[in-house]
Amino acid sequence: MNAYPRSLREVINLLKNMPGLGEKSATRIAFHLLRMDEKDVRNFCDTLLQMKRLISPCKKCFHLADGDLCSICSDPNRNSSLVCVVETTSDLISIEAAGIFNGKYHVLGGVINPMENVTSNDIRIRELLDRVDEEEVKEVVIATNPTPEGEATAHYLFELLKDKPIQVTRIALGIPMGGDIKYADPVTIKFALEGRKRISGD
Ligand SMILES: [Zn+2]
Repeated sequence: MNAYPRSLREVINLLKNMPGLGEKSATRIAFHLLRMDEKDVRNFCDTLLQMKRLISPCKKCFHLADGDLCSICSDPNRNSSLVCVVETTSDLISIEAAGIFNGKYHVLGGVINPMENVTSNDIRIRELLDRVDEEEVKEVVIATNPTPEGEATAHYLFELLKDKPIQVTRIALGIPMGGDIKYADPVTIKFALEGRKRISGD
């Protein structure tokens, strides 16, 4: 390995810190970058920098956005009265890939987890309650993962939302216990959404 020039070695070291890349893949990509035209490498770097500069959390739902609002929040054809609460952007993207949900989202940014010192103040629960109070929300679908922390967070949300004049539902069938929405296939997600059950509201 020390036979590599220092500058190439540094690129390999950076790449192998990426998730899913080991020494071999990192080396292959580094050699590919080395063979690319300088113009294409610059374009690649500019694209990365542009992503870093532009992307910030959507001001409404906390999904990733290129501006103030994400593409879902700014879509007039989406049903604003239906809000699906998810743990992460990855979960949101998996639900979107199933193609059957036409409401909007709220990304909590995690779940309550006392073992890791994550409290209700560390995730975007206050912001969800504000949306329910300020927007024309009729139903909140709680789509946290069926893990102990996801279930506890769902229960906590239910307690906060149960007295509001809205329906509160929880995704039910489909996602296995201990599973993770971001790894679920579209059919599983379809069943999970269709099988959601009411836990509060009329
Ligand atoms: Zn949004």
